Amino acid sequence: MKYIASVGKTKEILNKHRFSFKKSLGQNFLIDSNVIKEVVYKADIDKNTGVIEVGPGIGSLTEHLAIHAKKVLAFEIDQRLIPVLDDTLSAYDNVTVINQDILEADVSQYIQEHLSDCDDIVVVANLPYYITTPIILNFLNANLPISRYYVMMQKEVGERISAKPNTKAYGSLSIAIDYYTEAKTVQNVPKTVFMPPPNVDSIIVELKTRSEKKVEVDDEESFFKLTRGAFLHRRKTILNNYQSLFMDGKKKKDEIRALFSAADIEPSRRGESLSLEDYQKIYHAFKESDL
Ligand code: SAM
Repeated sequence: MKYIASVGKTKEILNKHRFSFKKSLGQNFLIDSNVIKEVVYKADIDKNTGVIEVGPGIGSLTEHLAIHAKKVLAFEIDQRLIPVLDDTLSAYDNVTVINQDILEADVSQYIQEHLSDCDDIVVVANLPYYITTPIILNFLNANLPISRYYVMMQKEVGERISAKPNTKAYGSLSIAIDYYTEAKTVQNVPKTVFMPPPNVDSIIVELKTRSEKKVEVDDEESFFKLTRGAFLHRRKTILNNYQSLFMDGKKKKDEIRALFSAADIEPSRRGESLSLEDYQKIYHAFKESDL
C-alpha cells in the first residue's frame, strides 16, 4: 500500500488538486510514514479509541489514525483541503472532517456528537505551529474528556511546555501545562520529513491529563493571572513583578510583601525558581486578601 505520507503520493495529490501551500496556515505536510507509524504506536491507539486531529492537511497522519482507531474527528480550517480529504480518505468511513478553525470550534459538542461511543479519547496532531500554545491551552481549559495528547510542534515550544523549574525554558506556560497534565518530550523530528521543510526544528510532546490535579485551585483564571504575573520581567523578583501586576494600586508593596510572608515564600525569589506547589501557596495567600 502506498501511503499518503510519501514524497511520490504527496506530489501526486498536490498536482491532481492543484494545491499550493499556505505558509500563513502553517502548512508543512508529513511525507514520512515511519514517523507517523511511531506516533500512532506510542499514542497507543486501538479500535476503542476516538482520535481528535487538528489540521489533517491532505490526510497523511489521518490515514494511519483511521486504520488504527475507532473514529477520527479532524478539524481543518482550509476550505481548499476539504475536497482533497474527501478524495484521499475515501476508503475510510470512520473519519469526520469539520471545516472550522479549531480555536472557534465547540469541541465538547463535537465530541458528544461523534465520539461518545469511544472508550478513550486522544488528541494526535502535527499542529499548525503558529498557534500551538492557544490550541493546547484551549483544549486544557475546556476540561474535555481527553486522556492524552500526542502532538508535534516547534521544538522550542515543546521544551517550554515540558520545562522544570530553574531552567531557561520554564515559565507560565510550563506551569499551566503542569497544572493540567504530565508532560514529556518524546522525540525530535527532522525537518526532512515535511514538505515543504519548516524553518524551525520539531519535537513530539506527550501530555497525559491528570485525573487528579496536583494542586487545588478554585479560580483558575486568577491563579494563572498570578503565575503569568511572576514572569512579567524574567530577571525581576516576584515582589517587583507583583508590584507591576497590581499597578492599579489595589495592593501596595508592603501588603504584597506580607502576603508572600504568609505564603512562606521569599519575595526576593524569581518566578522561574517556583514550583506549581509554590504558586498554589501564593495563590491561597493572595486570594484571602481579595485578588
Ligand atoms: N496533519 C497534516 C500532516 O501532518 O501532514 C498537516 C499538518 S500542517 C503542520 C497543519 C495543518 O493545520 C494544515 O493543514 C493547516 O491548514 C491546518 N490549520 C491551520 N490553522 C488551523 C486552525 N486554526 N484550525 C484548524 N486547522 C488549522
